[in-house]
Amino acid sequence: MLQMQNINKIFRTELVETHALREFNLTVNAGEFVTVTGPSGSGKTTFLNIAGLLEEVSQGKYLLDGVDVVGLKDRELSRLRNEKIGFIFQSFNLIPDLNLFENIDVPLRYRGFSSKERKRRIEEALEKVGLAARLKHMPAQLSGGQQQRVAIARALAGEPKFLLADEPTGNLDSLMARQVMELLKDINKQGTTIVMVTHDPALARSGQRNIQIVDGQVSDFSLFNNQKQEFNSQTEQVNTKETEAV
Ligand code: ADP
Ligand code: MG
Repeated sequence: MLQMQNINKIFRTELVETHALREFNLTVNAGEFVTVTGPSGSGKTTFLNIAGLLEEVSQGKYLLDGVDVVGLKDRELSRLRNEKIGFIFQSFNLIPDLNLFENIDVPLRYRGFSSKERKRRIEEALEKVGLAARLKHMPAQLSGGQQQRVAIARALAGEPKFLLADEPTGNLDSLMARQVMELLKDINKQGTTIVMVTHDPALARSGQRNIQIVDGQVSDFSLFNNQKQEFNSQTEQVNTKETEAV
């Protein structure tokens, strides 16, 4: 689903050069739920933005769903992003003066679906997050947890193969955080591959696999839910690549 090999990402400004990812290697298989942890500034968001085609790599190889995306034109990148990827952010990024239905409609309009198709997708997505009765509500009328569920519905309405979440529970209390996590697990069970950055060790453990990013590299793997076999083959693969890189 996602294969990154020897990715380097360097941010250059007039004064400093930041090596945000260095020789970064990771494979995420279709159907996985991977959590990502690591210190602040270690490159988690950079990894997620590259994975989601919001940033380009400086160097290295990235295959998304079998497609080599390095060097693709902007138009091609946005097409792939719209088709395959859903994003969820820490700050829910809902538009305050649009109701829930309209919020979810924005990216669908952008993709040019018919109004019938958009309505179907919006209603289905709100149903999945348990907010079907609230489509006329405004974001401010909802709790933080509910707003994040709307943001998840907005991502789901695109019917992505791949859901990327950057600290989606960072602004929620622990009960709401757990509810959002349960929802993401359900979505994963229905077939969507998920990569989620989190600070919360308990949430990190409730995915299938946790990777730690330190100084722009994957420094550690942990595996949960009896996925040991898959994990072992993954580790070998990555080790091989790291050896090659040396
Ligand atoms: P994390 O999400 O793990 O906190 P980031 O991926 O946001 O870390 O950042 C990794 C490093 O790259 C940091 O040193 C950060 O300052 C730097 N960085 C991230 N984005 C940019 C950017 N757009 N321009 C310059 N430096 C950046
Ligand atoms: Mg970050």
